[in-house]
Amino acid sequence: MKLLEERIRKDGIVRPGNVLKVDSFINHQMDIALFEEMAKEWKRLFAGKPINKILTIEASGIGIAAIAAREFGVPVIFAKKSKSINLDNDNYCTRIQSYTHGKVYDVIMSKKFLNSEDHVLIIDDFLANGCALLGLMDLVEHAGATVEGIGIAIEKGFQRGGDIIREKGIQLESLAIVDAMNEDGTIVFREQ
Ligand code: 5GP
Repeated sequence: MKLLEERIRKDGIVRPGNVLKVDSFINHQMDIALFEEMAKEWKRLFAGKPINKILTIEASGIGIAAIAAREFGVPVIFAKKSKSINLDNDNYCTRIQSYTHGKVYDVIMSKKFLNSEDHVLIIDDFLANGCALLGLMDLVEHAGATVEGIGIAIEKGFQRGGDIIREKGIQLESLAIVDAMNEDGTIVFREQ
């Protein structure tokens, strides 16, 4: 998506450790007009899929997922990071390794909000090694629901997450795929 690529080129900051900072328009300050364009693009790309729920993970996925949910006309659920794994009967639980923080955390989602009738679109801001998405897919599986597709704002194509997800045969739509981030701050996007 050209609009997103241009914005990343203009305002994205390449940090050591292959981290791309986009906190002036996605991760901290949020550009809602941009989110609306992203949501329209996902709506077009997933047209015809029987999506009735959107699922994301706190915190940085919530903004884009909320705007996408309005475009699709469906509710949005965000999985919550939990300090301790909650082995109660009310929640589905999974464990995710954080790329940016380098630690493992537990994630929960109430059983009230997802069941075997649901057809889910998963939305997140970044795809790197795929841990966050695999955790969200695990929650959907616990619920017996169906993953209809995954919408990502920025995929880091030089990390393995995209391949892992595509090998599973899931429709993955990343609006910008970064193939390289150079030391001089230049960013190379994959032609899509
Ligand atoms: P993964 O689980 O695919 O390795 O990483 C995805 C998660 O890590 C995303 O939810 C995102 O919050 C965070 N993340 C991964 N890479 C980056 C990055 O380069 N920049 C930022 N801002 N977040 C990232």
